[in-house]
Amino acid sequence: MKIQKINVHVIKSELDTPFAFSQGWVNQRAATLIEIATDDGIIGWGEAFPQGLEPPEISASVIEHCFAQMLINQNPLDTERIWFEMYNRSRDFGRKGSVMAAISGIDIALWDIAGQYYGKPISQLLGGAFRSQVEPYATGFYRIRGRGEADRLSEEALTHYENGFRSMKIKLGFGVDDDIAVMDAIQKSTAGLDVTFMVDTNHAYGRREALTLGLRMADMNLRWYEEPVVPEDIESYVALRSNLPMAIAGGENEHGLYGFKSLFSAGAVDIAQPDIGSCGGFTGARHIATLAQANGIEVNPHVWGSAIAQAASLQFIAALPVTHYSLFARQPILEYDQSVHPFRRELVEKPIEIENGLVSIPLEPGLGIKINRKTVRKYKE
Ligand code: CA
Repeated sequence: MKIQKINVHVIKSELDTPFAFSQGWVNQRAATLIEIATDDGIIGWGEAFPQGLEPPEISASVIEHCFAQMLINQNPLDTERIWFEMYNRSRDFGRKGSVMAAISGIDIALWDIAGQYYGKPISQLLGGAFRSQVEPYATGFYRIRGRGEADRLSEEALTHYENGFRSMKIKLGFGVDDDIAVMDAIQKSTAGLDVTFMVDTNHAYGRREALTLGLRMADMNLRWYEEPVVPEDIESYVALRSNLPMAIAGGENEHGLYGFKSLFSAGAVDIAQPDIGSCGGFTGARHIATLAQANGIEVNPHVWGSAIAQAASLQFIAALPVTHYSLFARQPILEYDQSVHPFRRELVEKPIEIENGLVSIPLEPGLGIKINRKTVRKYKE
């Protein structure tokens, strides 16, 4: 079997109501989808995830100009070898960001092909599923005005609860006092309910304010405190981890085996959050998970992409061993972003559903999804 053709689809959709996280306003949703066809007639899909406000055209250009020609006529089942060929070839200008996202998207498509070729879900090819279902958590609590939205956000928590979520992640980073007002209001509206919270400032603060915020949340029983400082500031991650009671999480803006090596060897995080669409795909995520296991660090993937990234993350989570094993070990949870995103529900024939508080992990070959090409055409420029 040989790779015959690589198509890159950049799709975009303007939002009716823009929303904010701490780093800016989100006005549109965008995705870089990769379609790889083989001479056997198998088509694999992947996604290069644009982090933050990253334009999707950058990784699309990397795929088209750097990797597409190289991939033609290669055996798509050679996932590890092709990963290193892409990584080595792009090392001097890559290693992070959009180049790693491009590698990730291609790698996901190759694993989708492999799954279809062998007639097995990707979790089987990764070594087998530790779990058949995963608890989703609601990422939400974005801002529509900016500050002073504690009341509306406390109502939003109840909506997620009614929709079946028992874990929720709150976007903070709008000023420590505003953040605390939001947390207090949410704690009040959900008092007595069985809900676990995480918080995420998207690296809004420096060490001092990140510590102040963390100390003021010390009694809130948070499952984790995500991206408290910028990803480059590993020393502050270490300081926060030793001075705060809650677990420190990060890594959505880190990439590859070598990037995570620097996080782990410094002791920067309790929970690593590689995004399968930018950390290096299945191959990269597997390297990172093994390294995390050796360093006693939990892995809980970051998921903010389209239905393809969601499907890939489900397969990865299925095959992810817990780091601290016990009879009642804490299991990974699935990030399920609740902001408006037409490329989640419209892009695949069977979008993910929550039943009894859990999402079932597909057992069909490959990623286990059928792409709705009408949606790709509709949003392609
Ligand atoms: Ca995040």
